[in-house]
Amino acid sequence: MPAIIDKIAQVLHIHKQTFDHAKVTVIFVLGGPGAGKGTQCSHLVQDFGFCHLSAGDLLRAEQHREGSQFGELIQNCIKEGTIVPMEVTVKLLENAMAAALKEGRAGDGWADGRGRFLIDGFPRKMDQALKFDEDVCKASMVLFFSTTEEVMLARLLERGKTSGREDDNAESIKKRFNTYKETTMPVIEHYRSLGNVAEIDSSASVEAVHIEAKAAVQKILDK
Ligand code: UDP
Ligand code: MG
Repeated sequence: MPAIIDKIAQVLHIHKQTFDHAKVTVIFVLGGPGAGKGTQCSHLVQDFGFCHLSAGDLLRAEQHREGSQFGELIQNCIKEGTIVPMEVTVKLLENAMAAALKEGRAGDGWADGRGRFLIDGFPRKMDQALKFDEDVCKASMVLFFSTTEEVMLARLLERGKTSGREDDNAESIKKRFNTYKETTMPVIEHYRSLGNVAEIDSSASVEAVHIEAKAAVQKILDK
């Protein structure tokens, strides 16, 4: 039976996503650099048992992987605050999701190809968003952490004292803010026009923002 369905899909040019939206829940977590995505994701993992995948962390791991053909490209994009070609990032995410599902790490208590993922810092550009939705898995919602550039800059400079990240310096931060405004905001607006964005003001303390974020995710999961 599945073979017949595959054949029909092929003939009709219907794309099937790698992961079934009915079994796999994906929430995109967006917001400017330093908006608090990673911090809030760790709390949400504890609340709801998500598998947390940070696109930036996956890219940094690939950058340092011995034998990677993308190391230099990734390093350059990260330092310049530009977006790595989507094929690379989408594939890294898809592989990480598949591995988590296979190894039973797709969220606490999830098995049999079921799972829930928080995808942090992705999609940052329209082409990535469309490709992921079409080929990998349809996302349920976007959790959007918004705050001012002043707040983000202060947080990034503070983080830069210990993060060792090549992009937590004033020059790279400026470029990252530009990419965020010009390239990532349209992605957020796209999902907003579909009614799929939960916006949270992340200017307050970690604890206060966490309370809001937890409530927003609960609402998404209850749908
Ligand atoms: N990046 C990318 N594509 C993505 C996500 C990240 O090219 O889908 C690159 C981009 O250069 C970005 C950098 O990775 O500036 C760091 O991303 P990360 O999410 O770690 O930054 P954060 O938002 O946490 O400050
Ligand atoms: Mg981050």
